[in-house]
Amino acid sequence: MHIAIKLLIIFVALGALFMGAIFLIAGGLVANYAIGAVLLLVGFALLGYVYMNERIEANRPLQQTFNVTMAGSGEMVERKMLCRSCGAPLEQKDVTLMSGGLVGKCPYCGTVTTLEEQPKW
Ligand SMILES: [Zn+2]
Repeated sequence: MHIAIKLLIIFVALGALFMGAIFLIAGGLVANYAIGAVLLLVGFALLGYVYMNERIEANRPLQQTFNVTMAGSGEMVERKMLCRSCGAPLEQKDVTLMSGGLVGKCPYCGTVTTLEEQPKW
């Protein structure tokens, strides 16, 4: 999982827990307790999801590690991929994951380049 997404989920989860606590403390109406309970559940669920994801990523053998590395290597791909036709650098937004491989579409000349076909110079 991308670190930014992880932090965002944790941030949202903490926000939900905080709001849930406020609703529970405010109390009074049954609806407030219900909303508070739901927010707390959502917060714990999100934290649990991130925690489980962390565990899975840490425990998975080779293949998953490879996938994680691929997902996290956007900057490396951005630096390495050049258009084979006009030599223009392909930005990360031009690169998409298609049928298991990375495919870059040149924003200048429209040539589609796959990472596998990239010459190793
Ligand atoms: Zn090009």
